[in-house]
Amino acid sequence: MAEYKINAAHLYGDLMNTYGDFGNIVALRYYAQKIGVAVDQHIVSLEDNFDAKDYDFVLFGGGQDYEQMIVAEDLPKKATALKAYIEDDGPFLGVCGGFQLIGQYFILADGTKVNGIGALSHYTLNQPNGRFIGNVTIEDEVNGLEYHGFENHQGRTFLGDDERPLGQIIKGKGNNGEDGGEGLVYKNAYGTYFHGPILTRNGNLALHMLQLILERKYPQVDWQQKIATITPEFF
Ligand code: GLN
Repeated sequence: MAEYKINAAHLYGDLMNTYGDFGNIVALRYYAQKIGVAVDQHIVSLEDNFDAKDYDFVLFGGGQDYEQMIVAEDLPKKATALKAYIEDDGPFLGVCGGFQLIGQYFILADGTKVNGIGALSHYTLNQPNGRFIGNVTIEDEVNGLEYHGFENHQGRTFLGDDERPLGQIIKGKGNNGEDGGEGLVYKNAYGTYFHGPILTRNGNLALHMLQLILERKYPQVDWQQKIATITPEFF
């Protein structure tokens, strides 16, 4: 048995898993095992209780508008716990539909307004007759790193004042095709439109996320030093 273990929650993983967003957890496990850390994952879906103290990482993947409507009806039951988890520096990754639903609201392609959890301040509008589809490259202004991904969304997301974009667009559309931002960072919560999955394609970001998770769970260990021994991979 591994000495250290990460418990990952895959929120609505049976409904929201566009392009295999679950691969984000697989990527974390791939790197974690190199330094003797195990990663367990649990799908937390409709009617399931979400108890934040059971988890060290939460993934909320993308989905079609139809699945998002179903999920949005269940979300209020988990909203308080998820908000508290994020405010308590819980590492979180929301991809596409999950990124949208962790915010205030989002407007479906047909104009229907769907409420999000409201844990974060961004909101998502629709676009009349289009989608943003294609490869994206961004630069993280904080550390100068580049990330690559694939976007496919009709929603146009606008960040709140307390959120910063994950990166600035070099290629692609990003959050809304207007302000040059892609994704979000708020405390240890990350949002993105990147499929790929983002942590599989961008080993540098996967190692950053792994460090956040482990430093929060086991603060007495020098994780920076251990993680520096891992070579990040890119696809
Ligand atoms: N249904 C949402 C949109 O089109 C999210 C799509 C996704 O998760 N890929 O904006």
